[in-house]
Amino acid sequence: MRPMNSPRIDSLDTLRARIRAFAEARAWERYHTPKNLVMALTVEVAELQEPFQWLTPEQSQALDPAQREAVRQEIADVLIYLTRLADLLDIDLLDAAAHKLDINARKYPVEKARGNALKYSDLPQDD
Ligand SMILES: [Mg+2]
Repeated sequence: MRPMNSPRIDSLDTLRARIRAFAEARAWERYHTPKNLVMALTVEVAELQEPFQWLTPEQSQALDPAQREAVRQEIADVLIYLTRLADLLDIDLLDAAAHKLDINARKYPVEKARGNALKYSDLPQDD
């Protein structure tokens, strides 16, 4: 689905650089404040919800090609704004995600969380 003249993006670093160049070429840096980017990200997440709106759980797992393409494009928008936001705040996305997964693993020990969807504060406590 990548246009033939579009350079391949094979890492978050490459994506970040490509988004930077995209913004710089259009002199959009002044609009890309953290506040504005968070708002744009939120809008894109809402747009990602739209193709799923009113679907049954089963339908949401079997999207038709048009629905799947809509989801694909909105996921890309979310990733682009998230990457740009992290770039401006000097946050390493992969490092932040790895750190949060470690935190979540402590909050949701396998022996307590496996097979249920309880919030960590509702999991059985050790005595
Ligand atoms: Mg969008």
